[in-house]
Amino acid sequence: MVDHDLRDFESQNPMYLDTVPNAKHPEEPVFAMVGTGPLCENPGLPVTMVCQKCKCEIETRSSSCGRVECPQCWGTWARRAAERAAARTWGAFEAGVSQHHPRHITFDIDTVDWKQAKQKALDFGFTGGLLVIHPWRIKPSYQAELAELADKLKVNRYEAWRRSGLGMDALLWSPHVHAICYGKGIPIKQGTHDYEYKMIRKLNSLDAVQGVAFYVLSHTFTPLTANHRAYRYFGICSPQKLKPDWVGQVSDLLRCPNCGFPMVFEGSNECKEVSTYTARGWHEVIKIPGVKVPGSGGRKKQIIPTPEPFYAWDIAV
Ligand SMILES: [Zn+2]
Ligand SMILES: [Zn+2]
Repeated sequence: MVDHDLRDFESQNPMYLDTVPNAKHPEEPVFAMVGTGPLCENPGLPVTMVCQKCKCEIETRSSSCGRVECPQCWGTWARRAAERAAARTWGAFEAGVSQHHPRHITFDIDTVDWKQAKQKALDFGFTGGLLVIHPWRIKPSYQAELAELADKLKVNRYEAWRRSGLGMDALLWSPHVHAICYGKGIPIKQGTHDYEYKMIRKLNSLDAVQGVAFYVLSHTFTPLTANHRAYRYFGICSPQKLKPDWVGQVSDLLRCPNCGFPMVFEGSNECKEVSTYTARGWHEVIKIPGVKVPGSGGRKKQIIPTPEPFYAWDIAV
């Protein structure tokens, strides 16, 4: 008990400079950032791809293990997860369930808790969408350094952090949610610093949704078990409420995670062919009232929604 009391006291009364590691939040050791686990045995050779439109660069591999925790191959995992997540999220607009485009918003939660994340999003007046939880933020004292490194390496700040070797000391335990969601949302109170949720922007295309999904998945936590997903749906986007007629893989060019433009191998005009997840024919699941089954004692026959097709690459192997 003494240890706990001391830890609480220290976190509320910071006596040390930021350079001294903070006492860890009791929940924190359970979680690991995407791409910070063991490296695979054969990550292939690095291949730099460049966006001809926005000039951003990403490092891909000639072969990838596709594991969420691999420091070199997590990007493959994030791209595949973002394709699926974006398809379903944008699907609600395609199906006409929402007449408006989704928005990227963020809000704080007390602990890494999907139930609380869903409930808060609904309480803020959003009708459905995608949720990703981030357990950490970059400590204010490391923000400038990592922003500079990110510019130099042409990567986002969290990838700069991964490559910096600074480790968890540069991150602050600060659970919050990124949502790509539909609905108007309750008005944000003006002139106050404590926000309930923060509106980042409206996303006007499937590519835009996929770009944000990739970005937020790039620095979430590795799912705790092989059956868990790094993201969840709520409301009108949940699998019980929204379904595609067809899902499959189609051949496409590797596209920029920021702007959706096809990328080329560094120093060439050559694109890279990849297979991507595609879903078509999104529609709302209409609940048909249960039919009384004779001899069932008045119980109603349940209509069980068909589960979404499952892909092996959805889980970490
Ligand atoms: Zn790997
Ligand atoms: Zn681009």
